[in-house]
Amino acid sequence: MNESQANDVKMEVTVSVLKYAEAQGITHLQLLDMVESSAKFSHELGNRRFHSWLFWIENNVVKRMIPLAKGVISGTLNRQVPVPGPGEFLVYDECMDCEGVGCQKCDDTGEVPVIRKNPKSR
Ligand SMILES: [Zn+2]
Repeated sequence: MNESQANDVKMEVTVSVLKYAEAQGITHLQLLDMVESSAKFSHELGNRRFHSWLFWIENNVVKRMIPLAKGVISGTLNRQVPVPGPGEFLVYDECMDCEGVGCQKCDDTGEVPVIRKNPKSR
């Protein structure tokens, strides 16, 4: 056994979460992978997030799993979203730093807000 794997914590999943995941076509193993890869998140419904899933984890037990709507993400994070000026518009681009996987720069959403100029009309 390797003692350097200190963060190799065994996660437990409640039966209701497991049943819910299986109904979404997610196996127990996949669910554990998702939880392991999830990022800390501040939301009244969950404290971990993996892509579009929100988990509530307490004492290494996954107690809740809910799909996270995109609107919730941008409404929850304290990220500065640029406001488009005249002749500009706001789009969400895949984050270049993590290629959409999620990192600090994009608050683990895999997307960054970008201001674009409206194409000039001739
Ligand atoms: Zn990123």
